[in-house]
Parts: sequence; structure tokens; C-alpha cells
Amino acid sequence: MSSEKKKSGKTRRISDRRMSSITRRLHWYWIRRKLARSVWADLLIAILLSAGWCVTWEYSKLGSLSADRSRYLEGTAPDQIFYMIADESGKVLLRESIVMPLRIILGIAAGLLALQLLGMIFSYFREDRKIRKIMAPINEMALKADELSRLSFSEDKYQMIEQALTHIQPGQGEAVPLSFGDSDLTGVEAAMNNLLLRMRDTYRQQARFVNDASHELRTPIAVIQGYANMLDRWGKSDEKILEEGITAIRSESEHMNHLVEQLLFLARGDSGKTQLSLEEVNIREMMTEIYEESFMIDENHRYRLKDGGDGITMQADPALLKQAVRILIDNAAKYTKEGDEIILSCGRNEKGAPYLQVQDQGIGIAESEVPHIFERFFRSDEVRSSAGTGLGLSIAKWIIDKHKGTFEILSRQDLGTRIRIVF
Ligand code: ATP
Ligand code: MG
Repeated sequence: MSSEKKKSGKTRRISDRRMSSITRRLHWYWIRRKLARSVWADLLIAILLSAGWCVTWEYSKLGSLSADRSRYLEGTAPDQIFYMIADESGKVLLRESIVMPLRIILGIAAGLLALQLLGMIFSYFREDRKIRKIMAPINEMALKADELSRLSFSEDKYQMIEQALTHIQPGQGEAVPLSFGDSDLTGVEAAMNNLLLRMRDTYRQQARFVNDASHELRTPIAVIQGYANMLDRWGKSDEKILEEGITAIRSESEHMNHLVEQLLFLARGDSGKTQLSLEEVNIREMMTEIYEESFMIDENHRYRLKDGGDGITMQADPALLKQAVRILIDNAAKYTKEGDEIILSCGRNEKGAPYLQVQDQGIGIAESEVPHIFERFFRSDEVRSSAGTGLGLSIAKWIIDKHKGTFEILSRQDLGTRIRIVF
């Protein structure tokens, strides 16, 4: 047996002894309390029985009870004690030896005490198990703490950890669990492996983001390059090609500009550079502003602001919150055919939490795609041909997360979508 095992066995024995002594102390405490209570109860019973005997005896012999009589004990020896009753003049009316009734009463009290003691002995074993059961987790905790405090980090263990750590390749290839090869270090091993797993995940997400971003940027650059070449060859002489080239380059550079702005927003958010400047925001007033802007920006849809939400205020960054709602309206407009209605509303939900809502009559989102719409660069197959980068909702989510809000999505394909931001 290794010395570590011996040590831990010894620790367990010491701890078991410690637990027995605590259990014993608890027991003694309870037994002392119960015993004191039983003795007092027995004494009371004895007094009551004696009083009962005196009253019954006096009544049976004298036919009445009177407060004018005097009652006292008289005795010459322990087995010669008499209970005396005398009238006002001191004339003895009754004289009775109380040795026998006293013996009976004391016998009853002693018997009761003996029965109670017997019960206590039986309950001792039952309570012992109960106390041990209650104490077990505390004991286990003390044991673990003891083991930890005894864990000696020798030079070898430090080297083992160092070696295992130098072989880690975060984010590369499949996750190979870290192993220190020492049973004492299994806890540290599990914690490190969890940390590595999370680091790998973050690394992969970052790598995918950079990959997707460069892919998205490559497309407009290629388009611009293509048109620039076309203009170079034929645009100088052909007016129509010139016009087409300029329009395409303008639209692609606008798209690129939008994309770069979105990427910058997310990058700033990820690095913690975007700070919220919170102030009291009246949500009804904010939604009214957004509504008025909406039908000025987009004349192709009918906008409606539902009544409600008056006087509701919340702590928010007004510019960012407005940006999040604008993203929802932008989607509603993009994925709803011209002429259809987009309804804005705000208020308090059934739990009293403030909400902002955008509802459209557009193409809707398939149930299987709803969980993905906040992922960066996600676009449903249906909308791939239309303009967009798939970053809008990721930005909205970042903003709403920072405001400790959540999204509630209700969508049916070909019927429409309702997105509610709840705080
Ligand atoms: P952009 O980054 O330019 O906003 P996008 O609109 O495609 O591009 P998101 O706003 O992030 O990207 O939306 C992600 C996807 O969710 C969309 O591509 C679309 O498939 C789906 N979607 C979001 N809102 C709606 C909506 N109101 N109706 C139907 N589909 C929607
Ligand atoms: Mg969008």
C-alpha cells in the first residue's frame, strides 16, 4: 500500500473517531435534557398522587373537606410517619400512617422513570443512526478538505503538469484530453479539460467568424474588380456599360461599407470597447420616433404604431436600443412584400415586463431555422438571393443581451413574423 493511501486511510479512521465523539456528545446532551425532564415530570406525578391520596382519605373518613382544619406530618422514625388532621381547637381528628401510600407512590414514580430510561436506551441506537446520517455530508466535506490540505505538491507533480500543458495545442485538431497521469490531480485535470474545451469552442467560433467575414468581403471586391475591368475594356466608349458599371460599383461598395460597419460593431462589442450609456428612456416616445422615421425611409410598406405603452420608462442606451429595433424593422421590410403592413408596438407583458415589438406579414421563418437566426452570417436558404449579410440579428442580440433583455419569436412561414424584445 502506498504511503498516500495509508495516510488517507488513517485520516478516515481519525475522522470516524471524531464523528463518533461528536455523535456521543450530542447524545449525552439530549439524554441529560430528557432525563431532567423525566425526573421533573415524575416528581410532579408523585406530588399529585400524594395530594390526591390526602384529599380522598380525608373526605372518606370525615365526609367533608374544610379549609379550617390544619394538616401536618408527624414522625418519630422513617417508618413511623403520620398524616395528621386537627380542628380549629387543635383536637386531632385523624391520624394515619403514610408509610404504605408513600411507598406505593414512590414505587409508581420509580417504575415510570425506569420505563422512560428503557425508552431512552432504545432510542439511543435509533438516534445514533439518525445523527450519523445528518452528520455524514459535513463529515465528508471535512474529510475532503483535510485530504486537500494534505495533498503535497511535490516537484514531480509540478513537472507533470508543466509537461502536459506544453503539449496542448488549443484549437487545433480534435480535442485530446489532458492527462497528468496522477490520481491526485484528477480534479485539476477535469477543470483544465473543461477550460480547454471552452477555449477550443471560442477559438473555432472566432476562426469561423474571420473565415466568413473574409468570404463576405471577397465577393463585393471581386464584383468591383470585375466591373472595373469591364469599364476599362468597353466602358470608355459604351455609355450603357459605363452606366451599368458605375451603378454596380456604387451598390457593391455600399454593401461593403455596410458589412464593414457591422463587422466593426461586433468586433468592438467582442473586445468590450462598446460601452452602454444608460439613461431613462420612455419606450413609447422612442417607438413613435422610430415609426415616424420608418415610413420616411421606406415608402413601400404600410407602417402602423399600436396604442399602448404610454409612460413606461426603462434604463437603456437610447441609440443602441433604437438600432436593435431598426434591425427588426429592416428585416420586416426586407422579408415582407410591398404594400403589406408592418405593426410596431410596445407595452408591458402579462408579467409586467416592458417590451418592444415588430410584427410583419412576410415570408416567415421555418421552425427549424428559428434557433439559428441570431448566429453570425446565418441567412435562410429562401433569402440568400436577396441583399444582406446575416449579421443584423447578431448585432441586435448583442445589444439586447447587454440590456439583459430576451427575444420572443413567433413565426409562421408565409404568414409572418412577430419578434418581441422583453426586458
Ligand atoms: P443583414 O445583416 O443585412 O440584416 P439579414 O437580414 O439576412 O442580413 P439578419 O437580420 O441577421 O440577417 O437575419 C438573419 C436571417 O433571419 C435572415 O436572413 C432571414 O432568413 C431570417 N429573418 C430575420 N427576420 C426575418 C423576418 N422578419 N421574416 C423572415 N425571415 C427573417
Ligand atoms: Mg437583417
